[in-house]
Amino acid sequence: MTRATPVIPGPDAPLADRDGAIWLDGDLVPWREARLHVLSHGLHYGGSVFEGERAYDGRVFKLHEHSARLVASAREMGYALPWSADELDAATREVVAAAGLTDGYVRPVAWRGGDTLRLVAPDSRVHVAVAAWPWPRIFADGPRGIRLHTSRWRRPAPDTAPVRAKTAAQYALGSLAGQEAEAAGRDDALLLDHRGRLAEATGANLFLVLDGALHTPPPECVLDGITRRTVIALAQDLGLTVVERHLAPAELERATEVFLTGTAYEVQPVTAVDAREYPLGEVGTALAEAYTRAVRGGDSGDGGVGGPVGGAPAAVPDGPR
Ligand code: PMP
Repeated sequence: MTRATPVIPGPDAPLADRDGAIWLDGDLVPWREARLHVLSHGLHYGGSVFEGERAYDGRVFKLHEHSARLVASAREMGYALPWSADELDAATREVVAAAGLTDGYVRPVAWRGGDTLRLVAPDSRVHVAVAAWPWPRIFADGPRGIRLHTSRWRRPAPDTAPVRAKTAAQYALGSLAGQEAEAAGRDDALLLDHRGRLAEATGANLFLVLDGALHTPPPECVLDGITRRTVIALAQDLGLTVVERHLAPAELERATEVFLTGTAYEVQPVTAVDAREYPLGEVGTALAEAYTRAVRGGDSGDGGVGGPVGGAPAAVPDGPR
């Protein structure tokens, strides 16, 4: 096994030009040498699958759920990963430990390689990489709130795109919607689904507070977020009613609070959707605090321990998804 020097890359260094190590197909390789061929199937046909994970105090929150979703996403895209979810857990722990990471971001990714450019390429070797780097909170002084722009792009129907998979094939859409939102001076895009119902942001799930209860779209045309599931459970623990149902855009008028959930965003208040403004409300704040306690403490999903940390999570509108 090739072991690179575990130097922690600075958060501002260009991503591909850092010291450190990336786990690639079973080995830790020097960061700059973790490359793929330009004729890789995954680059041309968009079938790569990936995860976005966060390490807190050196432990990846909900690690196994993420590894299992990577395996399931690949299956959805028609290929099997050469590693099990348990093996991916171990690889991720190895990368995090080699980086000496406490708080950071973890990006596992899998793709079909350059053995053939046939669209149907069952024999093309599947590659898997896991990278991790420090990712400090951007707005450590408290929630800034996200301002959303409703996108003209819509989340496709389940019979139009592999909506259950976290695959690059879907993220061209998010990228277009995000560019459009930023051009409009907003932090992120709100996408409707193919029927014009509320769906999600480019990398986070959507929640509305209506009459004190949480309402969120079912994971039909949106990613079944691991943070979404965690926040639903935390809300139920707090005695809140959670309703999963299709939501019409007009319901935004009646919502007293809106927030987003995602590994990168954590629980992030939305302060505006187009012309409609929202306050930083009690429900979102309580859930943001409960989530912060969960990621640092009792329920890391990876046997993590550590004291609760107060304060609401930071906004990361320009981070990875
Ligand atoms: N929707 C999309 C499109 C995403 O990219 C993400 C981030 N993975 C989410 C929702 C939130 O998912 P999770 O809570 O698992 O990070």
